[in-house]
Amino acid sequence: MASTLLSPDCSTSATTARHLIPLTRKLLCPTTRLVSFERCLSSPWTPSLCLSSSVSKYRTAVSAADPSSMTTTDTTANIIDGKLISKQIKDEVAAEVVRLREATGVVPGLAVILVGSRKDSQTYVRNKKKACEAVGIKSFDANLPEDCTEDEVLRHIEEFNKNPEVHGILVQLPLPMHMNEERILTGVSIEKDVDGFHPLNIGRLAMQGRDPLFVPCTPKGCIELLHRYNIDIKEKRAVVIGRSNIVGMPAALLLQKANATVTMVHSKTMSPGEIIRQADIVISAAGVANLVRGNWLKPGAVVIDVGINPVDDANSPRGYRLVGDVCYEEASKVASYITPVPGGVGPMTIAMLLSNTLLSAKRIHNFK
Ligand code: NAP
Repeated sequence: MASTLLSPDCSTSATTARHLIPLTRKLLCPTTRLVSFERCLSSPWTPSLCLSSSVSKYRTAVSAADPSSMTTTDTTANIIDGKLISKQIKDEVAAEVVRLREATGVVPGLAVILVGSRKDSQTYVRNKKKACEAVGIKSFDANLPEDCTEDEVLRHIEEFNKNPEVHGILVQLPLPMHMNEERILTGVSIEKDVDGFHPLNIGRLAMQGRDPLFVPCTPKGCIELLHRYNIDIKEKRAVVIGRSNIVGMPAALLLQKANATVTMVHSKTMSPGEIIRQADIVISAAGVANLVRGNWLKPGAVVIDVGINPVDDANSPRGYRLVGDVCYEEASKVASYITPVPGGVGPMTIAMLLSNTLLSAKRIHNFK
Protein backbone atom coordinates (compact mmCIF):
# COMPACT_ATOMS: atom_id res chain seq x y z
CA MET A 1 0.00 0.00 0.00
CA ALA A 2 2.51 2.62 1.09
CA SER A 3 5.48 3.56 -0.99
CA THR A 4 8.89 3.99 0.58
CA LEU A 5 10.22 6.17 -2.23
CA LEU A 6 10.10 9.91 -2.17
CA SER A 7 11.46 11.94 -5.01
CA PRO A 8 13.93 14.61 -3.89
CA ASP A 9 11.90 17.52 -5.24
CA CYS A 10 8.84 16.65 -3.18
CA SER A 11 8.62 17.19 0.56
CA THR A 12 6.05 17.67 3.28
CA SER A 13 7.54 21.00 4.27
CA ALA A 14 4.73 23.31 5.23
CA THR A 15 6.68 26.43 4.37
CA THR A 16 5.00 27.10 1.05
CA ALA A 17 1.47 27.11 2.36
CA ARG A 18 -0.06 29.50 4.79
CA HIS A 19 -2.39 29.11 7.71
CA LEU A 20 -5.86 30.49 7.48
CA ILE A 21 -7.98 30.70 10.59
CA PRO A 22 -10.83 28.31 9.90
CA LEU A 23 -14.45 29.23 9.85
CA THR A 24 -16.35 27.65 12.66
CA ARG A 25 -20.08 27.37 12.34
CA LYS A 26 -20.53 29.85 15.14
CA LEU A 27 -17.68 32.26 14.56
CA LEU A 28 -16.77 33.30 11.07
CA CYS A 29 -13.86 35.61 11.47
CA PRO A 30 -10.83 34.83 9.35
CA THR A 31 -7.96 37.27 9.36
CA THR A 32 -7.08 36.50 5.80
CA ARG A 33 -9.19 34.76 3.28
CA LEU A 34 -9.33 33.75 -0.30
CA VAL A 35 -11.62 35.30 -2.82
CA SER A 36 -11.78 34.70 -6.48
CA PHE A 37 -14.79 36.53 -7.80
CA GLU A 38 -16.24 39.86 -6.84
CA ARG A 39 -19.35 38.25 -5.37
CA CYS A 40 -17.21 36.80 -2.62
CA LEU A 41 -16.53 40.31 -1.39
CA SER A 42 -20.13 41.03 -0.54
CA SER A 43 -20.21 39.13 2.74
CA PRO A 44 -17.10 39.70 4.83
CA TRP A 45 -17.95 37.23 7.58
CA THR A 46 -19.24 34.38 5.49
CA PRO A 47 -16.78 34.18 2.64
CA SER A 48 -17.36 31.42 0.20
CA LEU A 49 -14.61 29.93 -1.84
CA CYS A 50 -15.33 30.54 -5.48
CA LEU A 51 -13.04 28.23 -7.32
CA SER A 52 -11.26 29.84 -10.19
CA SER A 53 -9.84 28.53 -13.41
CA SER A 54 -6.67 30.45 -12.85
CA VAL A 55 -5.13 31.01 -9.45
CA SER A 56 -2.79 33.72 -10.59
CA LYS A 57 -5.67 35.61 -12.16
CA TYR A 58 -8.13 35.42 -9.30
CA ARG A 59 -6.48 34.60 -6.01
CA THR A 60 -6.24 37.66 -3.86
CA ALA A 61 -5.69 37.91 -0.13
CA VAL A 62 -8.13 40.26 1.48
CA SER A 63 -8.30 41.49 5.04
CA ALA A 64 -11.55 40.27 6.53
CA ALA A 65 -11.88 43.47 8.51
CA ASP A 66 -11.70 45.47 5.35
CA PRO A 67 -12.74 43.53 2.27
CA SER A 68 -11.86 46.41 0.01
CA SER A 69 -8.22 46.21 1.04
CA MET A 70 -6.97 43.85 -1.63
CA THR A 71 -3.30 43.36 -1.04
CA THR A 72 -1.30 40.66 -2.74
CA THR A 73 -1.74 38.09 -5.42
CA ASP A 74 0.24 34.91 -4.94
CA THR A 75 0.16 31.21 -5.61
CA THR A 76 0.43 29.83 -2.11
CA ALA A 77 -2.27 27.50 -0.86
CA ASN A 78 -4.01 28.06 2.43
CA ILE A 79 -3.52 25.26 4.92
CA ILE A 80 -6.60 23.46 6.10
CA ASP A 81 -5.73 22.93 9.73
CA GLY A 82 -7.20 19.60 10.82
CA LYS A 83 -5.59 19.80 14.24
CA LEU A 84 -7.30 23.08 15.01
CA ILE A 85 -10.67 22.00 13.61
CA SER A 86 -10.57 18.68 15.46
CA LYS A 87 -9.87 20.57 18.69
CA GLN A 88 -12.90 22.80 18.02
CA ILE A 89 -15.04 19.73 17.40
CA LYS A 90 -13.81 17.99 20.56
CA ASP A 91 -14.62 21.12 22.58
CA GLU A 92 -18.10 21.19 21.05
CA VAL A 93 -18.59 17.48 21.84
CA ALA A 94 -17.40 17.97 25.43
CA ALA A 95 -19.89 20.80 25.94
CA GLU A 96 -22.73 18.70 24.51
CA VAL A 97 -21.77 15.72 26.69
CA VAL A 98 -22.17 17.96 29.76
CA ARG A 99 -25.53 19.29 28.50
CA LEU A 100 -26.79 15.74 27.87
CA ARG A 101 -25.58 14.48 31.26
CA GLU A 102 -27.05 17.41 33.18
CA ALA A 103 -30.41 17.12 31.45
CA THR A 104 -30.84 13.33 31.43
CA GLY A 105 -28.10 11.73 33.54
CA VAL A 106 -26.93 9.86 30.42
CA VAL A 107 -23.18 9.59 29.75
CA PRO A 108 -22.32 8.58 26.16
CA GLY A 109 -20.36 5.31 25.99
CA LEU A 110 -18.08 3.89 23.29
CA ALA A 111 -17.01 0.24 23.18
CA VAL A 112 -13.92 -0.77 21.23
CA ILE A 113 -13.21 -4.38 20.30
CA LEU A 114 -9.60 -5.21 19.52
CA VAL A 115 -8.65 -8.62 18.19
CA GLY A 116 -4.97 -9.56 18.20
CA SER A 117 -1.91 -7.57 19.20
CA ARG A 118 -0.97 -5.42 16.22
CA LYS A 119 1.04 -2.50 17.60
CA ASP A 120 -0.60 0.07 15.30
CA SER A 121 -4.09 -1.12 16.24
CA GLN A 122 -3.20 -1.02 19.95
CA THR A 123 -1.99 2.57 19.50
CA TYR A 124 -5.20 3.60 17.69
CA VAL A 125 -7.33 2.02 20.40
CA ARG A 126 -5.31 3.70 23.16
CA ASN A 127 -5.69 7.07 21.42
CA LYS A 128 -9.44 6.57 21.02
CA LYS A 129 -9.75 5.78 24.72
CA LYS A 130 -7.77 8.88 25.68
CA ALA A 131 -9.87 11.03 23.36
CA CYS A 132 -13.07 9.65 24.93
CA GLU A 133 -11.86 10.47 28.42
CA ALA A 134 -10.94 14.00 27.38
CA VAL A 135 -14.50 14.80 26.27
CA GLY A 136 -16.34 12.88 29.02
CA ILE A 137 -17.35 9.83 26.95
CA LYS A 138 -17.16 6.54 28.86
CA SER A 139 -14.95 3.82 27.30
CA PHE A 140 -15.58 0.11 27.27
CA ASP A 141 -13.23 -2.40 25.71
CA ALA A 142 -12.79 -6.02 24.81
CA ASN A 143 -9.30 -7.25 23.95
CA LEU A 144 -9.38 -10.66 22.35
CA PRO A 145 -6.49 -12.90 21.32
CA GLU A 146 -5.46 -13.22 17.66
CA ASP A 147 -6.61 -16.86 17.54
CA CYS A 148 -10.10 -16.33 18.96
CA THR A 149 -13.09 -17.38 16.88
CA GLU A 150 -15.54 -15.19 14.97
CA ASP A 151 -18.27 -16.39 17.34
CA GLU A 152 -16.35 -15.10 20.34
CA VAL A 153 -16.05 -11.68 18.72
CA LEU A 154 -19.76 -11.75 17.86
CA ARG A 155 -20.60 -12.65 21.45
CA HIS A 156 -18.80 -9.55 22.71
CA ILE A 157 -20.51 -7.44 20.07
CA GLU A 158 -23.87 -8.82 21.18
CA GLU A 159 -23.15 -7.91 24.82
CA PHE A 160 -22.31 -4.36 23.81
CA ASN A 161 -25.40 -4.25 21.56
CA LYS A 162 -27.52 -5.01 24.64
CA ASN A 163 -25.64 -2.79 27.11
CA PRO A 164 -27.65 0.45 27.58
CA GLU A 165 -24.49 2.29 28.72
CA VAL A 166 -22.89 1.67 25.32
CA HIS A 167 -24.02 3.98 22.50
CA GLY A 168 -21.29 3.24 19.99
CA ILE A 169 -19.42 0.04 19.06
CA LEU A 170 -16.26 -0.04 17.04
CA VAL A 171 -14.42 -3.12 15.83
CA GLN A 172 -10.80 -2.17 15.22
CA LEU A 173 -9.74 -3.13 11.69
CA PRO A 174 -8.00 -5.00 10.22
CA LEU A 175 -9.27 -8.22 11.75
CA PRO A 176 -7.08 -11.36 11.66
CA MET A 177 -7.02 -13.08 8.27
CA HIS A 178 -9.18 -16.01 9.37
CA MET A 179 -12.14 -13.78 10.17
CA ASN A 180 -14.99 -12.76 7.91
CA GLU A 181 -15.01 -8.99 8.29
CA GLU A 182 -18.47 -8.57 6.77
CA ARG A 183 -20.05 -11.10 9.16
CA ILE A 184 -18.51 -9.33 12.13
CA LEU A 185 -19.35 -5.79 11.08
CA THR A 186 -22.92 -6.85 10.32
CA GLY A 187 -23.18 -8.05 13.94
CA VAL A 188 -22.92 -4.48 15.24
CA SER A 189 -26.35 -2.98 15.88
CA ILE A 190 -27.00 -0.40 13.16
CA GLU A 191 -28.07 2.04 15.91
CA LYS A 192 -24.61 1.76 17.52
CA ASP A 193 -22.53 1.53 14.33
CA VAL A 194 -20.52 4.72 14.99
CA ASP A 195 -17.88 3.69 12.43
CA GLY A 196 -20.61 3.65 9.78
CA PHE A 197 -19.29 0.38 8.28
CA HIS A 198 -22.49 -1.67 8.65
CA PRO A 199 -23.68 -2.62 5.14
CA LEU A 200 -27.08 -1.03 5.90
CA ASN A 201 -25.47 2.29 6.79
CA ILE A 202 -23.27 2.20 3.68
CA GLY A 203 -26.30 1.17 1.58
CA ARG A 204 -28.34 4.08 2.88
CA LEU A 205 -25.45 6.41 2.15
CA ALA A 206 -25.47 5.20 -1.45
CA MET A 207 -29.23 5.47 -2.00
CA GLN A 208 -31.09 8.55 -3.12
CA GLY A 209 -33.52 9.88 -0.53
CA ARG A 210 -32.11 7.75 2.31
CA ASP A 211 -29.77 8.80 5.06
CA PRO A 212 -27.43 6.55 7.03
CA LEU A 213 -27.58 6.63 10.81
CA PHE A 214 -23.80 7.11 10.79
CA VAL A 215 -21.23 8.16 8.20
CA PRO A 216 -17.71 6.61 8.28
CA CYS A 217 -15.43 8.86 10.31
CA THR A 218 -12.53 9.61 7.94
CA PRO A 219 -14.63 10.64 4.92
CA LYS A 220 -17.00 12.51 7.23
CA GLY A 221 -13.93 14.35 8.56
CA CYS A 222 -12.91 15.32 5.00
CA ILE A 223 -16.32 16.83 4.28
CA GLU A 224 -16.39 18.54 7.68
CA LEU A 225 -13.08 20.24 6.85
CA LEU A 226 -14.59 21.58 3.63
CA HIS A 227 -17.66 22.83 5.52
CA ARG A 228 -15.68 24.44 8.30
CA TYR A 229 -13.57 26.34 5.77
CA ASN A 230 -16.78 27.28 3.99
CA ILE A 231 -15.66 25.64 0.77
CA ASP A 232 -18.57 25.10 -1.59
CA ILE A 233 -19.10 21.53 -2.78
CA LYS A 234 -22.34 22.00 -4.70
CA GLU A 235 -21.91 22.10 -8.48
CA LYS A 236 -18.16 21.50 -8.21
CA ARG A 237 -16.24 18.79 -10.01
CA ALA A 238 -14.66 16.42 -7.50
CA VAL A 239 -12.25 13.55 -7.95
CA VAL A 240 -11.72 10.92 -5.27
CA ILE A 241 -8.56 8.84 -5.59
CA GLY A 242 -9.10 5.39 -4.07
CA ARG A 243 -12.28 3.35 -3.74
CA SER A 244 -11.88 1.51 -0.43
CA ASN A 245 -14.93 0.79 1.70
CA ILE A 246 -13.59 2.88 4.56
CA VAL A 247 -12.43 6.04 2.78
CA GLY A 248 -12.64 6.44 -0.99
CA MET A 249 -16.08 4.98 -1.70
CA PRO A 250 -17.94 6.75 1.15
CA ALA A 251 -16.06 10.00 0.43
CA ALA A 252 -17.31 9.89 -3.18
CA LEU A 253 -20.87 9.17 -2.00
CA LEU A 254 -20.75 12.09 0.45
CA LEU A 255 -19.49 14.48 -2.20
CA GLN A 256 -22.25 13.32 -4.52
CA LYS A 257 -24.86 13.79 -1.78
CA ALA A 258 -23.52 17.33 -1.43
CA ASN A 259 -24.22 17.82 -5.17
CA ALA A 260 -20.70 17.66 -6.55
CA THR A 261 -20.11 15.84 -9.82
CA VAL A 262 -17.81 13.04 -8.79
CA THR A 263 -15.27 10.88 -10.59
CA MET A 264 -13.40 8.06 -8.90
CA VAL A 265 -9.82 7.21 -9.77
CA HIS A 266 -8.31 3.88 -8.76
CA SER A 267 -5.29 1.74 -9.54
CA LYS A 268 -6.68 0.66 -12.91
CA THR A 269 -7.56 4.18 -14.07
CA MET A 270 -5.81 5.23 -17.27
CA SER A 271 -4.30 8.74 -17.41
CA PRO A 272 -5.28 9.72 -13.85
CA GLY A 273 -3.54 13.10 -14.16
CA GLU A 274 -5.86 14.16 -16.98
CA ILE A 275 -8.91 13.29 -14.90
CA ILE A 276 -7.65 14.84 -11.68
CA ARG A 277 -6.75 18.06 -13.51
CA GLN A 278 -10.47 18.62 -14.15
CA ALA A 279 -11.28 18.68 -10.44
CA ASP A 280 -12.15 21.64 -8.25
CA ILE A 281 -11.92 19.35 -5.22
CA VAL A 282 -9.53 16.40 -4.93
CA ILE A 283 -9.72 13.88 -2.09
CA SER A 284 -6.84 11.45 -2.25
CA ALA A 285 -6.94 8.14 -0.35
CA ALA A 286 -4.65 5.83 -2.30
CA GLY A 287 -1.90 5.16 0.22
CA VAL A 288 0.82 5.99 -2.32
CA ALA A 289 3.40 8.64 -1.40
CA ASN A 290 3.82 11.43 -3.94
CA LEU A 291 1.17 10.05 -6.27
CA VAL A 292 -0.44 13.41 -6.98
CA ARG A 293 1.97 15.89 -8.50
CA GLY A 294 1.50 19.64 -8.84
CA ASN A 295 0.88 19.37 -12.58
CA TRP A 296 -1.99 16.94 -11.95
CA LEU A 297 -3.94 19.72 -10.25
CA LYS A 298 -6.14 22.42 -11.64
CA PRO A 299 -4.96 25.82 -10.41
CA GLY A 300 -7.07 26.79 -7.43
CA ALA A 301 -8.15 23.23 -6.64
CA VAL A 302 -8.91 22.27 -3.04
CA VAL A 303 -6.82 19.27 -1.99
CA ILE A 304 -7.73 16.94 0.86
CA ASP A 305 -4.96 14.41 1.40
CA VAL A 306 -6.06 11.37 3.40
CA GLY A 307 -2.95 9.27 2.69
CA ILE A 308 -0.57 8.42 5.51
CA ASN A 309 2.58 6.91 4.06
CA PRO A 310 5.89 6.23 5.80
CA VAL A 311 8.90 7.24 3.71
CA ASP A 312 12.58 6.78 4.51
CA ASP A 313 14.13 9.77 6.24
CA ALA A 314 17.67 9.49 7.56
CA ASN A 315 17.24 12.82 9.39
CA SER A 316 14.37 11.56 11.47
CA PRO A 317 15.21 9.74 14.73
CA ARG A 318 12.73 7.03 13.69
CA GLY A 319 14.37 6.67 10.27
CA TYR A 320 11.13 7.52 8.50
CA ARG A 321 8.50 10.20 8.35
CA LEU A 322 4.88 10.29 7.31
CA VAL A 323 3.76 11.92 4.09
CA GLY A 324 0.47 12.03 2.22
CA ASP A 325 -0.45 10.94 -1.28
CA VAL A 326 0.06 14.44 -2.57
CA CYS A 327 3.41 15.99 -3.38
CA TYR A 328 2.86 18.79 -0.91
CA GLU A 329 5.62 21.13 -2.05
CA GLU A 330 4.35 21.15 -5.63
CA ALA A 331 0.65 21.03 -4.83
CA SER A 332 0.75 23.90 -2.36
CA LYS A 333 1.95 26.17 -5.18
CA VAL A 334 -1.05 25.27 -7.34
CA ALA A 335 -3.93 24.55 -4.96
CA SER A 336 -6.01 27.18 -3.20
CA TYR A 337 -6.46 25.07 -0.06
CA ILE A 338 -4.57 21.98 1.07
CA THR A 339 -4.42 19.67 4.07
CA PRO A 340 -0.95 18.88 5.43
CA VAL A 341 0.15 15.39 6.46
CA PRO A 342 0.34 15.02 9.38
CA GLY A 343 -2.12 17.51 10.87
CA GLY A 344 -4.82 17.47 8.20
CA VAL A 345 -7.36 14.68 7.91
CA GLY A 346 -5.70 12.45 10.53
CA PRO A 347 -6.90 14.26 13.67
CA MET A 348 -10.40 14.54 12.19
CA THR A 349 -11.06 10.80 12.27
CA ILE A 350 -11.13 10.54 16.07
CA ALA A 351 -13.04 13.83 16.38
CA MET A 352 -15.74 12.40 14.07
CA LEU A 353 -15.85 9.17 16.09
CA LEU A 354 -16.53 11.15 19.26
CA SER A 355 -19.12 13.21 17.44
CA ASN A 356 -20.84 10.05 16.12
CA THR A 357 -20.89 8.54 19.64
CA LEU A 358 -22.51 11.67 21.04
CA LEU A 359 -25.01 11.68 18.15
CA SER A 360 -25.89 8.08 18.94
CA ALA A 361 -26.44 8.73 22.65
CA LYS A 362 -28.63 11.73 21.84
CA ARG A 363 -30.65 9.76 19.28
CA ILE A 364 -31.15 6.74 21.55
CA HIS A 365 -32.35 9.03 24.37
CA ASN A 366 -34.28 11.30 22.04
CA PHE A 367 -32.33 14.33 23.24
CA LYS A 368 -32.20 17.38 20.96
P1 NAP B 1 -6.77 0.77 0.64
O1 NAP B 1 -7.87 -0.03 1.20
O2 NAP B 1 -5.45 0.15 0.36
O3 NAP B 1 -7.32 1.42 -0.72
C1 NAP B 1 -6.46 2.16 -1.55
C2 NAP B 1 -7.24 2.59 -2.76
O4 NAP B 1 -6.37 3.38 -3.56
C3 NAP B 1 -7.71 1.43 -3.63
O5 NAP B 1 -9.02 1.69 -4.10
C4 NAP B 1 -6.71 1.42 -4.79
O6 NAP B 1 -7.27 1.05 -6.03
C5 NAP B 1 -6.33 2.88 -4.87
N1 NAP B 1 -4.98 3.05 -5.42
C6 NAP B 1 -3.86 2.38 -5.05
N2 NAP B 1 -2.84 2.79 -5.82
C7 NAP B 1 -3.32 3.70 -6.66
C8 NAP B 1 -2.76 4.46 -7.71
N3 NAP B 1 -1.46 4.37 -8.03
N4 NAP B 1 -3.55 5.32 -8.40
C9 NAP B 1 -4.85 5.44 -8.10
N5 NAP B 1 -5.45 4.72 -7.12
C10 NAP B 1 -4.69 3.88 -6.41
O7 NAP B 1 -6.45 2.04 1.56
P2 NAP B 1 -7.41 2.87 2.54
O8 NAP B 1 -7.66 2.11 3.76
O9 NAP B 1 -8.53 3.46 1.79
O10 NAP B 1 -6.40 4.05 2.94
C11 NAP B 1 -5.85 4.91 1.97
C12 NAP B 1 -4.84 5.82 2.62
O11 NAP B 1 -5.49 6.61 3.60
C13 NAP B 1 -3.72 5.08 3.37
O12 NAP B 1 -2.54 5.82 3.26
C14 NAP B 1 -4.20 5.09 4.81
O13 NAP B 1 -3.13 5.02 5.73
C15 NAP B 1 -4.87 6.43 4.86
N6 NAP B 1 -5.92 6.53 5.89
C16 NAP B 1 -5.90 7.61 6.66
C17 NAP B 1 -6.87 7.77 7.62
C18 NAP B 1 -6.86 9.00 8.47
O14 NAP B 1 -7.46 9.01 9.53
N7 NAP B 1 -6.23 10.06 8.01
C19 NAP B 1 -7.86 6.81 7.80
C20 NAP B 1 -7.88 5.71 6.94
C21 NAP B 1 -6.89 5.59 5.99
P3 NAP B 1 -7.84 -0.44 -6.33
O15 NAP B 1 -9.22 -0.45 -5.71
O16 NAP B 1 -7.88 -0.51 -7.82
O17 NAP B 1 -6.90 -1.40 -5.69
